[in-house]
Amino acid sequence: MDTIATEYRLEGDGADLRALPKISLHDHLDGGLRPQTLLELGEGIGLDLPASDVESMAEWFSVQSNSGSLVEYLKTFDLTTAVMQTAEGLARVAREFVLDLAADGVIYGEVRWAPEQHLARGLTLDEAVEAVQAGLEQGAEDARHQGHRIRTGQLVTAMRHTDRGLEIAELAIRHRYHGVVGFDIAGPEAGFPPSRHRTAFDYLASQFLPVTVHAGEADGLESIRSALVDGRALRLGHGVRIAEDLQIDRHDDGDMYVTLGPIAQWVRDREIALETSPSSNLQTGAIAAWGDDLVDHPFDLLYQLGFRVTVNTDNRLQSGTSLTRELALLSDAFGYDLDDLEVFQLNAAAAAFLPIDDREELAEQIEDGFDEA
Ligand SMILES: [Zn+2]
Repeated sequence: MDTIATEYRLEGDGADLRALPKISLHDHLDGGLRPQTLLELGEGIGLDLPASDVESMAEWFSVQSNSGSLVEYLKTFDLTTAVMQTAEGLARVAREFVLDLAADGVIYGEVRWAPEQHLARGLTLDEAVEAVQAGLEQGAEDARHQGHRIRTGQLVTAMRHTDRGLEIAELAIRHRYHGVVGFDIAGPEAGFPPSRHRTAFDYLASQFLPVTVHAGEADGLESIRSALVDGRALRLGHGVRIAEDLQIDRHDDGDMYVTLGPIAQWVRDREIALETSPSSNLQTGAIAAWGDDLVDHPFDLLYQLGFRVTVNTDNRLQSGTSLTRELALLSDAFGYDLDDLEVFQLNAAAAAFLPIDDREELAEQIEDGFDEA
């Protein structure tokens, strides 16, 4: 699963997808470890590991993630978070995370993770955020020495099934001028709607910190509604089940007519970005209602209808993927050309949790890079 070494060229014009400037908005820190790092850090703390070499470790992640069982899938995170309980472990993983993004052509990456899951060995929430920030900054500096320009932002995440939402929101605000650019909630979606964390979201709204919410992945429209109303989400983590709010009629003349329900209308017209993650959406069953192949993903329908679709990896280790690979898979499935891929990157630039000047600069970098391709 060496996704970095594999070459991806666009059919037709043969453009090297890895070299194109890209933006990654939905990428979990505990889902992006190098297998080698997991082995080294795991052995260092005497962890019971499911494999003893890089290949079988990568294979284990692939099998667990493709098992069709959410329980087996989530076990992989028990393992990755276990080696991310010290400042050194967090900083190393964060540094390598940035280097891997940079090698994949990413020029701006938002890195999400849940500090509350990294306190088992005595770190405080603030120490954990600082350790990750140190690693991200070191990674960007090291990438610069390798000829890559990349910047990052932390998305501090609260777990939706615990009750620390407000505490984590306050943590995000404390670090907003030291690397944190936004807030998210993650974990089991069904049964844990965003309204559970209404106090946290109210506080964040009062402080004007941007929010994205995992919604429309493992649950449907009501979860998305709560993300928008209770969370004031400016983006939706995956959000693919917004397609449940589309009424599709096929007429006798072969034409297809689509009517948008009120939630879909809001998401499209307010340009609420959808952080779709093609491989992950297949593996977690998020698109099961539409089919079990990538061509069944409502991504293309949403794109054609004018939704602000973005392409993401979610968990690179678990899915054995990279942003370049996800773009290649979508191109294969839907016949996208460079212009389409550029739109997805410009969508991501517009939706980044950065000041408008910075977003315009990212857009220029993307346009320049795609012009050269
Ligand atoms: Zn996610």
